[in-house]
Amino acid sequence: MPPQCTGDFKIVPVQQMARKFVLRDLGLKPTQRMPKNVGIIMDIGFSYDEIKRINQYQASQFKYIYLSYPLVEENLTTNDSIQFLKDNNMPDKRSRCYLCPFNCDTTGVDWKEIILSEPLSFIKACFFDRELRAVQKTGRKNMRSIPYFHYSRIPLEEAYPEDFRFFSAIYKQELEAWKQEWFDILHQKYGKRISA
Ligand code: SF4
Repeated sequence: MPPQCTGDFKIVPVQQMARKFVLRDLGLKPTQRMPKNVGIIMDIGFSYDEIKRINQYQASQFKYIYLSYPLVEENLTTNDSIQFLKDNNMPDKRSRCYLCPFNCDTTGVDWKEIILSEPLSFIKACFFDRELRAVQKTGRKNMRSIPYFHYSRIPLEEAYPEDFRFFSAIYKQELEAWKQEWFDILHQKYGKRISA
């Protein structure tokens, strides 16, 4: 599947918030047009080794938002960024969403670390992992192969079966409450019950 999260969860929400705050500072309503003399530059932290990800210099949704790629302009690779963090005594470990399919047990945040530090997040990730395959089965979403969060391409709950069983029992109520909250949000947004 093509990664959608960078756009959907990071770039677009930041653009929407920037628009909201600029309009508010100008004393305008959120639905009003942005004045013609306003432009916003958004820095995107793609590294030089991610240069192929650059495909636009202007936001598709908001034409007054221009995109800039400072790390690429400076030819800085991911390793250069990590070195910079090390040289300046900053944490250099990558942060990731708890459900990131790029989680692995060698770099960045690994599943074991999530299980130990945020077991409820692990249970939530198992839920999403299962739902994704349920959605794929319906054929409503175009996916080229069967999706798995775990790099070994097995269900996440089967990759860590004991942890899954143990924490599912402990966090049963919390998980149900969280699922209900999401179903309510989706129901409110789309006017119908959404599920795989
Ligand atoms: S950490 Fe993973 S899931 Fe989260 S936005 Fe990045 S690629 Fe997507």
